[in-house]
Amino acid sequence: MRLFEAIFDANHRAVAGDPQAGLRPAEYAEALPIAALTCIDVRLNPLLPAVMGLPGDQFIWLRNAGNMVTGPLSSTLRSLALACAVEGAEEICVIGHTDCPVCRTTPLQLLERFKDLGVQRALLPENVHQYFGQIAGERQNVHQACALIRGSPLIGPQTPVHGLLLDLETGRLEWLVNGYQTTTPLSDRWNEAVRSASETVDKLRALGDFQIGHLKLPETKIGQTVSSTADWLSQKVGALEISPPAPPGPPSPAPAPAVPEPPPPPPLPPPPAARVIHVAEKVIQFTDQHWPKPTEPPSVPAPPPLPAPIPLPPRIGPGDPRRRRK
Ligand SMILES: [Zn+2]
Repeated sequence: MRLFEAIFDANHRAVAGDPQAGLRPAEYAEALPIAALTCIDVRLNPLLPAVMGLPGDQFIWLRNAGNMVTGPLSSTLRSLALACAVEGAEEICVIGHTDCPVCRTTPLQLLERFKDLGVQRALLPENVHQYFGQIAGERQNVHQACALIRGSPLIGPQTPVHGLLLDLETGRLEWLVNGYQTTTPLSDRWNEAVRSASETVDKLRALGDFQIGHLKLPETKIGQTVSSTADWLSQKVGALEISPPAPPGPPSPAPAPAVPEPPPPPPLPPPPAARVIHVAEKVIQFTDQHWPKPTEPPSVPAPPPLPAPIPLPPRIGPGDPRRRRK
């Protein structure tokens, strides 16, 4: 049985009422001391050593509000790293607790309390919630802290990182993260990614006049990149053959559908001319058959030719004798 297995065994037996339950720290000297990160809640002061079954000189006790870890290189992680490297901690545990006021307090309530304490809102960061690292719950906090510690390059891959939740009412410990079962640490994966990236850059450098500053990452997935103009045309023809032509629109004269502009072809040697001609012919043939044509306006019959102009009679003046005849 390893140290934390023994701690949980003793704790669960004690909670169940076994008067003989207890841990014999001397049997686990190789795994001690441990580094424990807990909340600042004062109820933990007398409770934690008892529920862990460890004397005070066998755990290095780090505390902050909500047992938070804000990043893999944060000050808490630096302290944990030094707890291992300088103080000799063999295992790390993050111990959250139920009924944690830090997790219960909403950003609005926090701002109200700061206001009561005379703290000016204008001098606080914009995102108070994020700044103080408040998150949804005690369990989530423990899981996140363990993940960040496990992934930190400051923590050796052989150091177990456990996550616990302490029930303040019963004193029972719950094992949220079993540090003995942790798979490949994130730091290993990170190192692998860095190594792989540097190898890739070295290979690119070997190509000759390659300059990293000129490298343009493609915006499309590699498998989707159109390699030449002929391929682009082939794809367009295929798409037209798959999708039927659009149904006739409303009677109102609709503008003809815009023909999409082809993307600029990549600077590759031109494909064989015969292939381009073949594809172009297919495009023309297909569009002749299927491309929606604008509706012709109804033919209006031509008006009959105008009759020859009739000469107007001379204007009849007031003294004209033809007026008097009427
Ligand atoms: Zn707390």
